[in-house]
Amino acid sequence: MAYRALDPHSVIDYLRATPSLANVLDLDAPMHAREVGDGNLNLVFIVENGASDKSLVVKQALPYLRVAGESWPLTRERMRFETQALLKHNELAPGLAPQVYHYDEEMSLVVMENLSHLEVMRKPLVARKRFPRFADHISTFLARTLFFTSDFYLTGLEKKELQAKFINPHLCKIQEDFVFTNPFMDSPENRWNPLLDAEVQAVRRNSALKLALAEMKASYMTHAEALIHSDLHTGSIMANEELTKVIDPEFAFYGPMGFDVGAVLENLVLNYLSHFAHTPDPEVRRDYQAYLLDLIRDIWTQFAAKFEALWVENNRGELMPAKYWDYPGGDEAFAEFRRRTLAHILRETAGHGGAKMLRRMMGIVSVWDITSIADLEQRAVAERLAIRIGSRWVMERHSIHSVDDLIGIVREEAE
Ligand code: ADP
Ligand code: MG
Repeated sequence: MAYRALDPHSVIDYLRATPSLANVLDLDAPMHAREVGDGNLNLVFIVENGASDKSLVVKQALPYLRVAGESWPLTRERMRFETQALLKHNELAPGLAPQVYHYDEEMSLVVMENLSHLEVMRKPLVARKRFPRFADHISTFLARTLFFTSDFYLTGLEKKELQAKFINPHLCKIQEDFVFTNPFMDSPENRWNPLLDAEVQAVRRNSALKLALAEMKASYMTHAEALIHSDLHTGSIMANEELTKVIDPEFAFYGPMGFDVGAVLENLVLNYLSHFAHTPDPEVRRDYQAYLLDLIRDIWTQFAAKFEALWVENNRGELMPAKYWDYPGGDEAFAEFRRRTLAHILRETAGHGGAKMLRRMMGIVSVWDITSIADLEQRAVAERLAIRIGSRWVMERHSIHSVDDLIGIVREEAE
């Protein structure tokens, strides 16, 4: 079927004509569809059978970037990357990504599990909700998706074959430009709080910081360490008290592991800072902010422990195979190699997390935690801190030796 963008009527006709979906939806029964995509890129429809509770989600790529309109063409192939990544995530981290029911290459669409019983995390975090399973779930997702797609687990051949399926140049270019480059120079799409003019100009002239950001961009463009999600902010995670699901992996490609870990931690820091405005009661605020810092600590600590355990138990990759360490003293050397690798991921977590924190303050897209602060003065309080913390995470990443060093920078600046 030739490509056409769907609407709430035509999506129903499309589904009725797709017999493979008969086990998830009653294709002959009445259906209701609504478009819910609050995203920047694509159409998202929730389709439900009226009588039964059966439902599903259809996500379709438009031939342009939705936020920017038709003037900004973008390849529809992104839905192939999203589908492949969702399937991989289901395989490697079962239960932590929506199930895929159907993929249509021509129509650039994927049909997946409806997660409407969960909330996109960003808003409930502003409302000070707690997610008791989140640290466990997201650290499992990170450890398993990153380890099992890396050279520590795959053979060189397997890794390159998988990497070849995820050569995703157009979506990579969006991150290359809008995370690492344009926010830090004069570029027409940049937006920032006018009260932050001086700080934004100072970032653009800070050579030590610009050098560090250039190094992080080089890491993003050249360090094909694992299949990364590459857009793992709290708007790409749906959760409730029991469940966590990672959505929207259309940016997936082989990149640096620290980019994903850094995205999760950095978004929790931005949420932490937003509570200086959202939560005026100092006691309530301190309590929730302490919860967020505990989350950051738990996520890293559990990620590192799970990643290392997976490595010890599944050391079948060609970098380096078990036999390589099979000599007196080899166990200690292998342990040291794991320690150094995790130290490297932590530094990259700081560097990429810091770069992303900064771009949210002065690039094309901010985060709702911050933009929902109506008063510009109050908003500037959080934003100035984000610029200071982000800058330090990037520039001081070589002296970050534990997650408490990362948290320490947040504390020193914010308290
Ligand atoms: P985009 O790539 O356009 O940013 P997202 O994948 O982030 O699109 O989806 C946009 C919104 O659609 C999400 O914020 C969420 O509210 C909703 N959504 C996406 N996937 C699902 C799903 N599987 N179940 C329920 N709602 C979803
Ligand atoms: Mg998206």
